[in-house]
Amino acid sequence: MPRRANGKKFLANTNTKEVHDLDNEQTNCQIDEIIAAGHDVYFDTLIAAQLSGYDNGHWCIGDSTR
Ligand SMILES: [Zn+2]
Repeated sequence: MPRRANGKKFLANTNTKEVHDLDNEQTNCQIDEIIAAGHDVYFDTLIAAQLSGYDNGHWCIGDSTR
């Protein structure tokens, strides 16, 4: 079941500097852990997250840029 926060599709982890696609959430993304730790920030688009310095999540997006 996809989930979005405030209608935003992408959740980025300020600790690992990775961004996750909430519509393609995988167990390995550990979204609950990110939110619980308070490391979550949100973006409308993937490019916006990348421009803010976040790398693609391996499990939900792929094509890591680093
Ligand atoms: Zn992910």
